[in-house]
Amino acid sequence: MKSQSIEELYGMELAGFIKISKDKDALLVVDIQNDFLPGGALAVTDGDQIIPGVNILAAKFHQIESPIIFTQDWHPADHSSFASTHPGKNPYDLYEAPGIGPVLWPDHCVQGSPGANIAPGLQTANATLILRKGFHKSIDSYSAFLENDKTTETGLRTFLEAVGIERVFICGLALDYCVYYTAIDAKKQFEAVVVLDLTKPVNSPEDSVSNAFKDMVNNQVLFVTSDQILE
Ligand SMILES: [Zn+2]
Repeated sequence: MKSQSIEELYGMELAGFIKISKDKDALLVVDIQNDFLPGGALAVTDGDQIIPGVNILAAKFHQIESPIIFTQDWHPADHSSFASTHPGKNPYDLYEAPGIGPVLWPDHCVQGSPGANIAPGLQTANATLILRKGFHKSIDSYSAFLENDKTTETGLRTFLEAVGIERVFICGLALDYCVYYTAIDAKKQFEAVVVLDLTKPVNSPEDSVSNAFKDMVNNQVLFVTSDQILE
């Protein structure tokens, strides 16, 4: 794998080498689905580039028999996060409503559609859990833990707690939305580590990445590169 420049890693301070442990570490692979890849409905630039590295990282967690959780954005066709459900609105327009926003999206990850499928290059055979989120029509769910109303649980917290997890490593799409919100909610109960070379941002609005990093730093989320994670 090519090494990442500081610029590519957003100038964040890295935590250094971390040895993962069977009894306390889990890997969360967030929303690597066709609609978020180049050519998809809500394409994240270079989103496909992280897939080989995610497969390698997941293999490390599999090797030590730690849980590997994949999440899948999974919306009804008339979901309130879609610009198409709001007359006169366009994708990426700023929009705030309870459980929705700060922007509206193109229709994406509609339940059962090819765009909602997990990317074919991603190896899911070793998944412990595949968690679907965003299925309530009027609530979005960026976080893998809590829907955007900040109270509706997805069940992931309880699962991780039940199997004794203390720390979660988070990768996937997109850095400034689902990875970011997942990290913030993870940190409420677990240590949270974002794998910076295995995530890519939407970059909309233009300050979304800088705001996400500010909030993650304030919440003591840690950052590593995948080659610093040792089994
Ligand atoms: Zn969505």
